Amino acid sequence: MSKVKSSNIGYPRIGEKREWKKALEQFWGGKLEKEAFLSQIEEIRLSHLKKQKEQGIDLIPVGDFSLYDHVLDTAVMFGLVPNRFNYSGGAVSLETYFNMARGNKEAVASEMTKWFNTNYHYIVPELEGAVPNLVENRPLQFYKEAKAKLNIEGKPVILGPITFVKLSKGYQDNEFKEIVSKFVPLYGRILKELQEEGVQWVQVDEPILGTTLSTEEIALFKSVYQSLHDAAPQVKILLQTYFESIDHYEEVISLPAAGIGLDFVHDNGENLEAVKKFGFPQDKVLAAGIIDGRNVWRANLPNKLSILEEITEIVSAERLIVQPSSSLLHVPVTVKSEEALHSVLKDALSFADEKLNEIAILTKGLNDGKETVQAALTASKEAVQALNESSFRNNAEVQEAIQNLREYKADRNAPFAVRQPLQAEAFQLPLLPTTTIGSFPQTKEVRQQRLKWRKGELTDRQYEKYIEEETKEWVTIQEEIGLDVYVHGEFERTDMVEFFGEKLAGFQFTKFGWVQSYGSRCVKPPLIYGDVSFKEPMTVKETVYAQSLTNKPVKGMLTGPVTILNWSFVRDDMKRMDVANQIALALRKEVEALEENNIRMIQVDEPAIREGLPLKREKWDAYLNAAVYAFKLSTASVKNDTQIHTHMCYSNFEDIINAIKALDADVISIETSRSHGELIDAFEKNTYDKEIGLGVYDIHSPRVPKLEELTRNIDRALQVLDPKQFWINPDCGLKTRGKEETIAALRVMVEAAEKTREQLLVNKEQ
Ligand code: GLN
Ligand code: ZN
Repeated sequence: MSKVKSSNIGYPRIGEKREWKKALEQFWGGKLEKEAFLSQIEEIRLSHLKKQKEQGIDLIPVGDFSLYDHVLDTAVMFGLVPNRFNYSGGAVSLETYFNMARGNKEAVASEMTKWFNTNYHYIVPELEGAVPNLVENRPLQFYKEAKAKLNIEGKPVILGPITFVKLSKGYQDNEFKEIVSKFVPLYGRILKELQEEGVQWVQVDEPILGTTLSTEEIALFKSVYQSLHDAAPQVKILLQTYFESIDHYEEVISLPAAGIGLDFVHDNGENLEAVKKFGFPQDKVLAAGIIDGRNVWRANLPNKLSILEEITEIVSAERLIVQPSSSLLHVPVTVKSEEALHSVLKDALSFADEKLNEIAILTKGLNDGKETVQAALTASKEAVQALNESSFRNNAEVQEAIQNLREYKADRNAPFAVRQPLQAEAFQLPLLPTTTIGSFPQTKEVRQQRLKWRKGELTDRQYEKYIEEETKEWVTIQEEIGLDVYVHGEFERTDMVEFFGEKLAGFQFTKFGWVQSYGSRCVKPPLIYGDVSFKEPMTVKETVYAQSLTNKPVKGMLTGPVTILNWSFVRDDMKRMDVANQIALALRKEVEALEENNIRMIQVDEPAIREGLPLKREKWDAYLNAAVYAFKLSTASVKNDTQIHTHMCYSNFEDIINAIKALDADVISIETSRSHGELIDAFEKNTYDKEIGLGVYDIHSPRVPKLEELTRNIDRALQVLDPKQFWINPDCGLKTRGKEETIAALRVMVEAAEKTREQLLVNKEQ
């Protein structure tokens, strides 16, 4: 009898203890020979396949593993190497591959950007003038490897042609179809070669199906997938979507593919609803993404099983696959080593390995009957319940406060037009005030001192003293440079989210909970596992200390609620935006504490608002409204002459400008230096009436900008903005920069401000 199959979409590359990262970095640093590197990597790759096999997964993905990024892998498979890397055809060498990702002395790296709405970044393929060519069949190689070395009949994974081209750059919108058509025969060849090798299933990822697509694009899917089917009719294509529901459901399920993979976790219930409403074709397999591939919580398996049972009323068992909602790339490897966590929390966690086990249990439950997995079902339910019922998640005060928000609008006391003159009076700033974004260089010494303190080699007092000295030095430096508004420098912080997470209730940190962010870089997002609340002031001491050293205003510096939310693993038993509001209410107390201590400019950074945007346009408003509300909730209680600042690290905000206005921050600083022209265009089209600092130089490079460049940037901005609303600042925080270059660059910035002020006076007199 045919049975339900279990499957996986992708497995984390990094290894339990980040062995993958270490191997890569040793190789890049010249400490590991190529041979040795490749054999270590092979060992890691095979061990991941073995693990999946041991978990009893039927369809094990192969080719999802990468030395850097799967989009880059796809590009090099088609010989798409930008000219600046001197490529002369054939399989792309390891050296060229890493040069594309990381740049070298002669050529800058390819751009990198976010993979849909995750915190994973991919390398953007450059298609300009490219003639794609199949220079190696990667999926085939990995299929053969798994078979030869482990006797595993793998499921090759390929990034589909339409998503691949959509994520690339270097062509005009109207060329899209034509470019896709260049790739179709190449994909056809890949599939044909897989077919010749006897491959059964191939997973073709088209996550673009979770975004808003036009009818033409859907038509393109039809013709492309017909061609792919015709090229290799015996291969079963599993058309895989994730991160959202698909619209055009009926068209998508009728595409010429043997199976369709749907996300039943991050779809807002819409996929399941569509399956029930429109049914599912009798001749296709449904791969049901039922276990959350993007979050770390253990599933309530009885609930999941009943959803699957509902599905089996529409799709028969032999046509059902159970799998995660997306690749497990987005979660850490295993909970096993997290010994320090509270047992109630640890029991309620599930990382990649545990998720595979959940999939195996559900599959067995469907195939052999619930009774056979009863103990596991009950255990999962109890673990989830225990956390839900624990004191961590039942802070009555926090929950009541959230309930009360329904009535509360979170507006400032008075509109900006009233606040602005009061603030001008209070601060007496010159025209075009100069400031920085918050952090100053986190030198090796700063990091070493913190490490010593964490290891207990420095007492709290010694460490505090060190931070004070560092702060004091930079207050003096800011004075010498002649800035108008100061910051304390953030020397006490490692990471802008971690710092607050460690001080608020409701957060926990894992020891090995790393996930890949880009290349070998991994991040360890905090877990927001309980009700979030304020315990004690988090930033007051350092800020007040800095303020005590100067008469210039020192900005208080906080990370905003939406950024904290978007850069954490968030509990899934309540609405995300309710969690954001909990964070906001806690931050509001911090804002009030700063204000009480006479800190009258408070900056609440929200660099991650934009990246949390839903994949579907029609869901943007709801998200943005909620994000704006959370921001206002954290900031709106201050007095009229307390000035709220915010900061964002991107400038492509034309499409979210209304939300940015709605934040009602008195001053916003944004990145601009890398995209000045575009931003100015945006301001010509949109009026912005509050104060705004356009980043006048790029902080991503150690280069000290020239005076003329900065005055030019400022002049351009002043063509569309009133000098009365304009601030001068760098693009972002300076923590990654060196001390000397930072001082030099800020001097130029202050000089440019002075020059422009003089010029404005001259113009006025004429
Ligand atoms: N205040 C933070 C800093 O200067 C802002 C960082 C950010 O926007 N990413 O480091
Ligand atoms: Zn920034």
